[in-house]
Amino acid sequence: MNCFAHQAAPAVGICRACGKGVCAACAADTGAGLACPGACEDRVLLLGRMVDSNARVMRTADRQVWSSGMLGVVMGVLFLALAVWTYKEVHVMLTALTGGMGLIFLGHGFFRLTAERFPRSGG
Ligand SMILES: [Zn+2]
Ligand SMILES: [Zn+2]
Repeated sequence: MNCFAHQAAPAVGICRACGKGVCAACAADTGAGLACPGACEDRVLLLGRMVDSNARVMRTADRQVWSSGMLGVVMGVLFLALAVWTYKEVHVMLTALTGGMGLIFLGHGFFRLTAERFPRSGG
């Protein structure tokens, strides 16, 4: 493939924004990929920034999933402990309520933690 602007010059790469071949004289290395000069430079830079911030958002989301999973497990254990305590004190409704809440929190927490252990492919 030759440069889209200079038909005689061999392309050293492909513009990441428009997919055209660019020669050594045309190619602008944005740090996020090759671009042809002009509007594409800005687009490739923007593209690179978007990918960067996406990766950051994904990492933050993973941390949030993990911590909310841990919170669910902790809350579940607390509620189950409360259920055991209210059972000893013979508050049947409270036992059912706190026990149910505990199981919901535990299930939710374990579900999130398990999902975290098998991360999405291609990430
Ligand atoms: Zn381009
Ligand atoms: Zn060129």
